[in-house]
Amino acid sequence: MYRQWVAVAVLLAGLAGFMMMQGGADVQALSPQFSSLPLYGRIVGVDAGHGGYDGGCMGRSGVPEKEFNLAVTMLVKAELEKQGATVVLSRDEDIALIDPAKTTGYKKRKELDNRLKIFAENNVDCMISIHMNQYRNENQRGAQVFYKKGEQDGQDMAKAIQDAMAAQDAHNNRAASVGDYYILNACPASALVECGFLSNREEEQLLLTDAYREKLAKAIVEGVANYFQGKNQQASQNAATETATAD
Ligand SMILES: [Zn+2]
Repeated sequence: MYRQWVAVAVLLAGLAGFMMMQGGADVQALSPQFSSLPLYGRIVGVDAGHGGYDGGCMGRSGVPEKEFNLAVTMLVKAELEKQGATVVLSRDEDIALIDPAKTTGYKKRKELDNRLKIFAENNVDCMISIHMNQYRNENQRGAQVFYKKGEQDGQDMAKAIQDAMAAQDAHNNRAASVGDYYILNACPASALVECGFLSNREEEQLLLTDAYREKLAKAIVEGVANYFQGKNQQASQNAATETATAD
């Protein structure tokens, strides 16, 4: 009997929650614990680079880049959700978004087009693509964030993410830069994060640990939250200036 009552109570609580959601504006008033979260109401696209037949680059460990990317992506997703965001992933398993055997022409471009389609269909407010870097000079290390040339939103977000990553680890003290990556066409606020160099022995070892991946994910999400906070502040400043001008 008790169990039935619990079931009914859970059902009623769920129903009440659903009705609150239908209430629209009332939701914020009734659930401040959610609406006060920094990324509440934001739809964030996260792209785990490569996958399936496309392994990406590889360091000494023999673990392909696609696996690093997916692991970090899942941590970024969890952290974003903790901050109130809705997350859209291009992949959450080891797959490519085309069948290479059945695709003719420029496979890589078609595969990326399918990723862009997912983000467009879900109206993402911003998009972060997760990658690992590689360079012939093994001394190169540190995360670096890229944005599309001429996209102010992308540049602002890339800079915010780079700053948060540098604050978290001094090795990540590079400058956010323009990058010619097709995935950066996902939306105006798009950034590609090269989390570190698999060609650097020490950094690859770090990138293999859950602890360092967790730190990276937290810094990336902190950067995204700071970007939106800056945007909100600018919007309210603009509104104040407009009001002042109107008077
Ligand atoms: Zn890559």
